[in-house]
Amino acid sequence: MIQLQVWQWNEVDTEVNQAVLKVVEREINRIVNTRYKLKTVSFEKKWKCETTSFSFDTGFLEFDQVNDGENYYCEEHATVHKYKDYWSGEKSKASRRISSDQQNYVRMSMIVLEVLSGVLYDRLYIDTKTGEILDRDKLDITEMCKKYCALKINFPSKGFRKIKLVDEISPNEDTIGDDIQRIRVIRNEMQHSSVFALDDTRYQTLITIVHDMLTRFDQRNNPAGESYVKRLDEIRKMELETRSFEEIKERMKAGLIEKIHAVFDSVVSDALNDIC
Ligand SMILES: [Zn+2]
Repeated sequence: MIQLQVWQWNEVDTEVNQAVLKVVEREINRIVNTRYKLKTVSFEKKWKCETTSFSFDTGFLEFDQVNDGENYYCEEHATVHKYKDYWSGEKSKASRRISSDQQNYVRMSMIVLEVLSGVLYDRLYIDTKTGEILDRDKLDITEMCKKYCALKINFPSKGFRKIKLVDEISPNEDTIGDDIQRIRVIRNEMQHSSVFALDDTRYQTLITIVHDMLTRFDQRNNPAGESYVKRLDEIRKMELETRSFEEIKERMKAGLIEKIHAVFDSVVSDALNDIC
């Protein structure tokens, strides 16, 4: 018998539980069928009380025996508990609401991925006079910063320096070069977030900085269609669903994985990543 317990300190993520279950199932199948070719061995998945002790090895129930929210009799504690379906993944995902810190994170990430990335693309398009055709879909912020850096124009007013948080750039540093640095640093802050949440104070600080910066870029880039500030306001007011949270998490994680690959790719681009 293999007993498995998933510990989570924050909100239960049924998708993670589902994924863990799948990995275990796949591994057991691999060991049984491929490694040892044990054709007569089979297994079943069952569950028991969430506060169980490993030494209590009876009282298992079938997965489709009880539905979410229903009561069941727990043999181990000789009492009735309410069953919480932590295992079926999809089912309980739709009803889960995202917290306000997670909403802030989603909004700020959307601002980075949709508005700031567009600002940088437009600026790069205006300033690239080599006739090079730029593919919007293939350029992320890191790539665009590198390309902009290579133009050797509009340097930040205090030069390139390592900046951890965008607040380290003072409000009077307000040239195009300074704002491009701001975009890069804000993008990094969102991408390196391990909690995928942003508290209200931090969110408001970033919104103020971004708003001021977009007001400047609306003047400089004169964007076609809606102004950058209007696009920002739309994201700030937008209705959010759980789905957008999962999507944003994936997109930010994907960006980070790409970045890790890039770092391994070459020492030269590693050094460049730090400053441009
Ligand atoms: Zn129990």
